Amino acid sequence: MKAVYITEHGGTEVLKYGDLPEPIIGPTDIKVRVKACSINRVDAFTRAGIKGTRLRLADPHILGGDVAGDVVEAGEAVTRLKAGDRVVVLPRVTCGQCQFCISADDELCTRPRQLGTTMNGGYAEYVGVPAVNAVKIPDTLAYDEASALPTVFVPVWNMLLRRARLQSWETVLVLSASSGVGSAAIQVAKNVLGATVIATTSTQEKALKARSLGADEVIVYTEEDIAEKSMAATDHRGVNVVVDHVGSDFWEMAMASMAPGGRYGICGVTTGYRADLHMGLLFVRSQTVFGVYMGRKEDFRQVVDSASKGLIRGVVDQTFPLADTADAHQALEDRNFFGKLVITVP
Ligand SMILES: [Zn+2]
Repeated sequence: MKAVYITEHGGTEVLKYGDLPEPIIGPTDIKVRVKACSINRVDAFTRAGIKGTRLRLADPHILGGDVAGDVVEAGEAVTRLKAGDRVVVLPRVTCGQCQFCISADDELCTRPRQLGTTMNGGYAEYVGVPAVNAVKIPDTLAYDEASALPTVFVPVWNMLLRRARLQSWETVLVLSASSGVGSAAIQVAKNVLGATVIATTSTQEKALKARSLGADEVIVYTEEDIAEKSMAATDHRGVNVVVDHVGSDFWEMAMASMAPGGRYGICGVTTGYRADLHMGLLFVRSQTVFGVYMGRKEDFRQVVDSASKGLIRGVVDQTFPLADTADAHQALEDRNFFGKLVITVP
């Protein structure tokens, strides 16, 4: 099969396009004919071998976790899916045997694996995945939009619905609206939960797109002060919830924007992972800081259900054919896009 793979870590030039054997599946797996695979930051980290993603690379490794496509083969123990089903795949593979998996809290699995990172992924014509990681999608949901769902919507769903319990009468601050996570958080907060959304972004052009997704207020942080504007927009009360996936650069301003009782969720640290926490203010203001890493399989099912009903959608900025995956990675590094970059497999 055609695939894009790496045999060494490095820049975009280590992405090779060529032929590899098709995956062989086990009894509880499905084989998926990949139609689209969206790109995430973790793909670039794994390509470069940084942030804990270094691999031995004894064999060629195929990147890519967020896959949508058609089931072409189901293992003999699979009852829920069959050849011909259109599916989207959750890339986090859990052991099914640890205490957390058994108690349905599989987001906390102690022996997780990750499609495209620690297992061969979706930059290929075919990928093998556990059947429990796939959810059916209707004909009305395009493959590229479906592939833009898993890695950005699942942590946001977990963070806003379960952990922060954002309410319709509350206000959420979404940092970096133009990213996949940002564009997901705006939609879930607005269209699913009915909350008031303040988003931040770097340019007026991106601000317009954030508004069209549902942001009530957009702060262009290159021109305006995030804390000042957040306070002004909330009658000087502050925001109730912060969605942070950017890390160090915005921590101080976002913390200063938060109301008493506020919940500060972190699901990424793109700009750096160290922060200076004022513990005194944290307890005097009864605030919470917490992290989420992806979510449960049930969160994913709910995300796909909401996308199937048209409440939320994967925001696709640009698609690239499989052979041009290196260009897609370059576009990711250049950071000049809104939403997701997606690889399509004709
Ligand atoms: Zn487990």
